[in-house]
Amino acid sequence: MEINECKSCGGRVEFSPKHKGLKCVNCGSIYSIKYTQSISKRPVGSEISSFDMQKWQENNHSYTCQNCGANIVLNKMDITSTCKYCNTNSLVPLEDLPGLKPEIIIPFKISKDDAKTEFNNRIKKRKFLPLNFKKNLPKADIGATYISSFTFEMLVTATYSGRLRISKTVRDKDGRTRTVYEYRPISGNVRQQFDNLVVEASDKINQDEIMDIFPYDFNESYDYDDDFVKGYNVGYYNQTVEQAEIRAKHDAVNIIERQIHNKYSDPIESLTIKPVYLNINYNYALLPTYFVTFSYKNKSYINVMNGQTGKIGGKVPRSGVKITLFTLFIILAIGLPILFILLSN
Ligand SMILES: [Zn+2]
Ligand SMILES: [Zn+2]
Repeated sequence: MEINECKSCGGRVEFSPKHKGLKCVNCGSIYSIKYTQSISKRPVGSEISSFDMQKWQENNHSYTCQNCGANIVLNKMDITSTCKYCNTNSLVPLEDLPGLKPEIIIPFKISKDDAKTEFNNRIKKRKFLPLNFKKNLPKADIGATYISSFTFEMLVTATYSGRLRISKTVRDKDGRTRTVYEYRPISGNVRQQFDNLVVEASDKINQDEIMDIFPYDFNESYDYDDDFVKGYNVGYYNQTVEQAEIRAKHDAVNIIERQIHNKYSDPIESLTIKPVYLNINYNYALLPTYFVTFSYKNKSYINVMNGQTGKIGGKVPRSGVKITLFTLFIILAIGLPILFILLSN
């Protein structure tokens, strides 16, 4: 039976990562929810059941943020007007349907209560932070959002060819050494199965930003249920499965390219890879993400944190002095021995 309000006090219930269930925001009563892992990936172009789709559309509504422009989806029981991307009260309802029904979800593992401490502990470890910033971390607003993404599985087989550039040091008659290059053609086959190539599809985060907080552990993904998103924003997807598929193939080839480079100890020139993609299937998946906004010295920063692992990404304030000192140190560390060798000759 679906629980939309607390049985003891009638209060609103929210998903609680700590209790892995629903918690009443009023009296703290806990309700257990079901976790299932039965949904498998499906071919691009296939339809999901109209019953599931209808239920999703009845229970969830679209909103837009008048401050940052994000489009998000909220469960009908959520009465918040806070946009969790920019942490302002700027949400207004839209007439639009809430779009695709999510199929799988990785529920938040780090609770909203723990998110700030987790973020502070992690940001302190970033390099080149100004001392003043590190000592008095600015007050940050933290918003919890499930970002929409497509996760693909595919088998990629590829043939490749190119040439190795092998460098050799030879000694001339007069005793001087110089480098010469030899080239050797290479070719081969690669075959690799990818299980979860994740392509983000949200408004407010791009693929590079989300790569910073990868990976997500899909062993902890479950069949989507509205219970998991109660009390959270859901990012509306802004690209099609077909667009995401192109990106997933591109990422797969990049991974294969790196593997080919790693296979050889010499650099490869004019590498061509001819990939064939087989058994492509996907899911529409929701990933737990915290958006952290803070300002420092009149500049505002947006950071992201993986709501499952706590990994953080995004730009942070950097101390110019520390970077200069570090650069000087490197120059001295490399330069002094060279100078010493030159002088001693
Ligand atoms: Zn209650
Ligand atoms: Zn916003």
